[in-house]
Amino acid sequence: MSKSLKDCGITKKRIELFEKINIRNADELFSYYPFRYENLDKSVFKDWNKGDKVVFEATLISYPSTYRYSRLKSITKFKVFMEDNELEIVIYNRPWTSNLKINQKLVIVGKYEGLNKVTALNYSGKSIDDIVGITPVYSTTKDITQKIIHETMKKAFENSKNDITNDIPFEYLSKYKLLNKVDAIRKIHFPQTMNDVSLALRTLKYEEFLKFYIAINLLKKNNDNKIVKNSKKFNYDDVFSLVNNLSFTLTKDQFRSVNEILDDLQSNKIMYRLLQGDVGSGKTLVAALGLYATYLSNEQSALLAPTEILAKQHYESLNQLFKPTGLKIKVLYSSMNSQVKKDILKELINGEIDILIGTHAIIQENVVFKNLGMVVADEQHRFGVEQRKKLLEKGEKVDFLLMSATPIPRTLAITLYGDMDISTIETMPSNRKPVKTVLIQENSFYSVINDIEEKLNMNEQIYIICSIIEENENFDARNTIDVYENLKKYFNGRYNVGLLHGKMSPEEKEDVMNLFSNNKIQILISTTVIEVGINVPNASVIIIYDAHRFGLSQLHQLRGRIQRGDKQGVCYLLTDNKNKESINRLKVLLKTNNGFDISSEDLRLRGPGDILGTRQSGVPSFILGDLFEDTKIINQARIDANEIIKNQNVHDNKKIVDSIISDNDLNITYMD
Ligand code: ADP
Ligand code: MG
Repeated sequence: MSKSLKDCGITKKRIELFEKINIRNADELFSYYPFRYENLDKSVFKDWNKGDKVVFEATLISYPSTYRYSRLKSITKFKVFMEDNELEIVIYNRPWTSNLKINQKLVIVGKYEGLNKVTALNYSGKSIDDIVGITPVYSTTKDITQKIIHETMKKAFENSKNDITNDIPFEYLSKYKLLNKVDAIRKIHFPQTMNDVSLALRTLKYEEFLKFYIAINLLKKNNDNKIVKNSKKFNYDDVFSLVNNLSFTLTKDQFRSVNEILDDLQSNKIMYRLLQGDVGSGKTLVAALGLYATYLSNEQSALLAPTEILAKQHYESLNQLFKPTGLKIKVLYSSMNSQVKKDILKELINGEIDILIGTHAIIQENVVFKNLGMVVADEQHRFGVEQRKKLLEKGEKVDFLLMSATPIPRTLAITLYGDMDISTIETMPSNRKPVKTVLIQENSFYSVINDIEEKLNMNEQIYIICSIIEENENFDARNTIDVYENLKKYFNGRYNVGLLHGKMSPEEKEDVMNLFSNNKIQILISTTVIEVGINVPNASVIIIYDAHRFGLSQLHQLRGRIQRGDKQGVCYLLTDNKNKESINRLKVLLKTNNGFDISSEDLRLRGPGDILGTRQSGVPSFILGDLFEDTKIINQARIDANEIIKNQNVHDNKKIVDSIISDNDLNITYMD
């Protein structure tokens, strides 16, 4: 148990301040880490360069003079003497100089401007030794200043340092020469050198990851022990025979993933698996074989798609695939005719439908299955956790497969998806021509018009993507409506132009998509609604306006739309943004076609919440650890966590496991 702030001798007033940021005891206070350090060092004048941050002791030789140029703004100037040099000091907005005396010693912190001029940030009568050194900088609030944090930290540490114990088992502490917890806390909050800080970080990061992986491990064990289902009964050869009808064979990774899924279905542990693979890597077929195995085992299954268009597309391709089998498959979505809907619901409850594909419409309460055995959710990041849960509750003990087209490296996936098992498709089917991607630093259609005319002339089709639907004064970006109007004028009936966006009714969207699918529309202007899984093999060009406004993974998904057929796809990224970072970020897409590399880069730049949409499902947030920088520590901590869980006869190991159990409610699964 950690000492309360009260027992650490902190005043009532301050305790109340810290409670507001959820800090109630010494442990929580010590985990309030500095986000950077100010490192002030004495240096001699001859080493000063223009722009250097300098700290020095000097003697005041002229009375300060102050000019006020508004109520709160002023410039104060004075002269000092240091090491036989006369320096001119300027300080802003600090007009209170009446207590300064000629010949007084001052310590000045500031920036050297060259030519014996210094812009001071601060001056004081303190001794220079009190000012140089390393000072942690914490994030502050309106009421909690740096000074308050420093003082409270110091007091709490003095009063509780004898009670601080190690959580990391001794064996690992000595194996990696980590610091004792008390030293780690001392060195992170009161460092003498920057080396102290890195030593402390090494220990504290390891501890943070170790605890995380122990918790994940416990969760997984909890799930494994608790949930038992009837194993599904099917013959592997029968399942794979479905592929014999196809014009291609499974890739190695597809084959392995199918086997992993079939093993899960056949075991009596409930499947809770993530299938991740790049756009076009063939995840649908893998999932379909799982659905087929469920059918062979006389159970129903459901496939959840994020949009109506995609649900229908899945319906068509699965219908094709299952044609030789006699399996009955239906699709359900909200905009459909209510009589048809009624019929489907009836067939479903009677067990006449084997696979139901649909949008979130299939989550509704009136959708009742006879014996639901498996659920697949496509493009899972589009669904909320609640929706998935509702669907799973439609069956007794349902096997669950999530599909993600934003594949991430394995270690990261284990960390982010916690207690899920993971299947990864890394290799693409060999018949794929990688999309050619071109960055055009101009936000204008006219820079690509010749290429476009050529493609249209060859009877190929084109997507044009805008980041906004209609004109919006908050964003300086091209919008679908304007682009649509302009291009209609430009092509003037030579080719048909269509418009697709989220504000249209499902019927309107459907119509436009069908027209595009059937090549009745050649140029489709759209928002990112087409990002998710849409398949029009004859479309070979995608033009993306204001490309800098999209995430890398999203752009990669978008260009995945034109890698569907046998034509050479070309993706034009248009932007007139001049920001160098934005441009460099976009250039990642020119360098690689590998979804793993792209998502890694994207995750590094934007963080997992934005990309995987897992914010609501609890992406772990590490206080010190960095998922991308600390891979060595992460890997070691994972291995050690397994070992610790296995060897709980060792006292230290049991201690850390018990403390994690008592800190967590492990009945809540990680994805909840
Ligand atoms: P995604 O992983 O993006 O969902 P899909 O499952 O939609 O990809 O597959 C894209 C296309 O690739 C489909 O037309 C599918 O029939 C085809 N496909 C799947 N597996 C293979 C394979 N092993 N070889 C060739 N084409 C394949
Ligand atoms: Mg897909």
